Amino acid sequence: MTDIKSLNYDELVTYMAGLGEKKFRASQLYQWMHEKLADSFDECTNLSNALRQKLKETSEYVCLEPVRVQRSKLDGTEKYLFRLTDGNYVESVLMKYHHGNSVCISSQVGCRMGCRFCASTIGGLTRNLLPSEMLDQIYRIQTSIGERISNVVVMGTGEPLDNYDNLLRFIHILTEDGGIHISQRNLTVSTCGLVPRIYELAEEKLQMTLAVSLHAPNDEKRRELMPIANKYSIDELLAACHNYFDKTGRRITFEYSLVAGVNDSKENAQELAGRLKGLNCHVNLIPVNPVRERSFVRSTREAVENFKINLEKCGINVTIRREMGRDIDGACGQLRKRYMEKTESEK
Ligand code: SAH
Repeated sequence: MTDIKSLNYDELVTYMAGLGEKKFRASQLYQWMHEKLADSFDECTNLSNALRQKLKETSEYVCLEPVRVQRSKLDGTEKYLFRLTDGNYVESVLMKYHHGNSVCISSQVGCRMGCRFCASTIGGLTRNLLPSEMLDQIYRIQTSIGERISNVVVMGTGEPLDNYDNLLRFIHILTEDGGIHISQRNLTVSTCGLVPRIYELAEEKLQMTLAVSLHAPNDEKRRELMPIANKYSIDELLAACHNYFDKTGRRITFEYSLVAGVNDSKENAQELAGRLKGLNCHVNLIPVNPVRERSFVRSTREAVENFKINLEKCGINVTIRREMGRDIDGACGQLRKRYMEKTESEK
């Protein structure tokens, strides 16, 4: 069965030609899937019954089923838990900002990167998400709220660069003409720092923002928090970031989760600033979200403010991530995890 929503326009034309259909039929179907966000072939009313039947016999129309939606009373943030065709679950988050609606999507079921403070990695990696499954998280949310999604961040469960080919295909379908057409400038992909992939991605010359999860000013501390730091040093990672900026002209965002007593001191800020010097970048500070299974404690508000000031004194651009949806299941990956634990215990 062909995963039809993962085909780009040219591939869909070829596929439809194989079914004896003309190019304009492929255009109609592409529009149904990626612009009108139809939830099944049956919604594609300008395609004949016979054609819809043929499509059903030869391909699968991926459409995610929302099994739970949690809405924050504080800021309108919504967390969606989607069921995939094979019974796995992924979560996505809708954040409403003045400048538009932003959706944070997952790129894998689970994750194998093992970051110590992260809930998404606790059960390991189950599988990669298909391009269609990444797209449909956005499509279902846009359909559900009846408002346009203008920003997408790939910062949910999973390491997007560990699912590289599917990620690229997703980006092209998401941002090119003829579909939901989200601007590449409104897309952010976050990575824990798979260095060879960052070099590869730079060659794609995309206009999206690359966010790199750094979380520590030196290798020793980074290794305590992120196993990937055993594979690539911060020097190697920053060299890849310099290259990314040189090739794309896009400023890198560094994510830095502040853990009390671990990486939030004045010395840590100064050391970090020293390493980032000369790189066109921006640091996003995130007070770590406590995860039930982990013992990390978030830095105090004061420590976060001081860390920001200390970086700024060294000439670094810094923002503190605004916290959204605090009342609906804290850190990423927790909704899925809790839901699965609950259903397991009911078995
Ligand atoms: N694998 C990618 C994207 C998913 S994680 C990456 O590592 O960047 C998205 C961001 O949330 C990363 O910066 C990650 O380090 C951070 N994160 C994960 N768990 C967190 C927690 N409990 N508190 C704060 N930030 C967390």
